[in-house]
Amino acid sequence: MDYTAIFVLACIFIPLEKLLPLHPEQRTLRRDWLNDLIYVLVNGFVVRAGFTLVAGALMLGIAYIAGPNPIRWTGALPIWAQVTLAIILADIGYYTAHRICHTVPALWKFHAVHHSVEEMDWLATHRVHPVDQIFSNTLSMLPIWVMGFSLEALVIHQMIYQAHALLLHSNLRIKFGPLKWLVASPEYHHWHHANERDAYDRNFAAQLSIIDVIAGTIFLPIKRRPKSYGLNEPMPRNYPMQLIHPFRSLARSLMQAAPSNRLETRMSATEKTRASEDNLGKLAMLLAFGYFGYQQVLSLISVVVNRDSIPLWELAICSLIGGTAFLGFVLYYTITRLPPRESATGVTSRIVAIVGTFIMSLLIVIPPQAISAETRIISSVMVTIGSMVSIYCLRQLGRSFSIMATSRALKTQGAYNTVRHPLYAAEVLMIFGVVLGHGTALAFGLGAIWLVLQVRRAQYEEAVLRQTFPEYADYAARVPMLIPGLRLGWLEAPVARKPENI
Ligand SMILES: [Zn+2]
Repeated sequence: MDYTAIFVLACIFIPLEKLLPLHPEQRTLRRDWLNDLIYVLVNGFVVRAGFTLVAGALMLGIAYIAGPNPIRWTGALPIWAQVTLAIILADIGYYTAHRICHTVPALWKFHAVHHSVEEMDWLATHRVHPVDQIFSNTLSMLPIWVMGFSLEALVIHQMIYQAHALLLHSNLRIKFGPLKWLVASPEYHHWHHANERDAYDRNFAAQLSIIDVIAGTIFLPIKRRPKSYGLNEPMPRNYPMQLIHPFRSLARSLMQAAPSNRLETRMSATEKTRASEDNLGKLAMLLAFGYFGYQQVLSLISVVVNRDSIPLWELAICSLIGGTAFLGFVLYYTITRLPPRESATGVTSRIVAIVGTFIMSLLIVIPPQAISAETRIISSVMVTIGSMVSIYCLRQLGRSFSIMATSRALKTQGAYNTVRHPLYAAEVLMIFGVVLGHGTALAFGLGAIWLVLQVRRAQYEEAVLRQTFPEYADYAARVPMLIPGLRLGWLEAPVARKPENI
């Protein structure tokens, strides 16, 4: 940043922070102000060089795969619409990157430099480790750079983004009123920096707090202001050491598996194992379901393009939209799910869960058989209804959703008042439709194995739920397991849970 820009910003923010301070006791030349000024003067060059290198390589890769300017319609929109769309898309990217930085221990080490700020003001905005900045810029800015927006729109977006970032960190008491649920305010971002247990890992967006409202990560308490900011872990106080510190700490933790983020420092060994397994599972699910979703969208486009040669294409579209929407919800609840409380022990329950989840995807590589028009109608209707009911159940299960037998929160209302595993029951309908539509003996075989595995999986889950929630026994006595109004002895028998050994 050049000297004139710094001088202009100082002339705007220093008087403003004196006039309307959130923390009036805070001095203008507060602790570490000189260090943050060094960030303003030096860090920008490092970040720009690194980001140009990473973004340049990625843009070349994208141009090689998709051709130059793969998307053109965005550039034809009026300028205000382009800027609005760019803000929304870039902030979804930023939210994702920022949340990953708080979740993945190795990235937290770099992001922790920004959280080491103990007194918030406009100058503190710039204390960001280059690795952290390059990572989050790549996820937020790169998508809008390759989406065909005009240069003018990108420049305006960048100016708004920078000004907003300064405002968010400044020591200003500015209330946004009800708008605070839509647009990020200083109050909102100060809570992100607060070193208070209930504010940890909240308010991830840079500009649109509504993303946190939708994702369930918003934290804006009434009549309270953050008491302290910063970290509970050591962090050097000068620029060169802050650049080196995350690399050192990473090397150290690779050697001795030391506690690596602020949540982990309070966790027991079992909890740590459970949390890393949960994060690893989350990543695997995002990749796998992201791929299935991508395949579904491709099939949907192909049906729309070739609709004249496809009999009953309207039904095919209904079942594909149903399947795609279901995968979308699975992805959404995987990202936003609650932390695990208890998990099943042993390898068998994990294998059953993984094979049960993914076995039907083998059908992608097996060529289907020609089926009659009547069978196609029945199959499409079953998939459509099955996926709709699955979405309904998934929405009720919400953030307690898991692939592994893991308890997060107990649900007993709505569909869970009819059977204890309504999502599996709805999936039976959907999968039977898929098998019928595929028409091969192999598909029926896989469907049968899937059913056996899912029943076993439900039994493992029940064992964990019984252990976590004492009220589960009453619930199980009141509501049947899978089939409404029907209890089968072999289905209902509880599975014994092995003692904790992970
Ligand atoms: Zn953060």
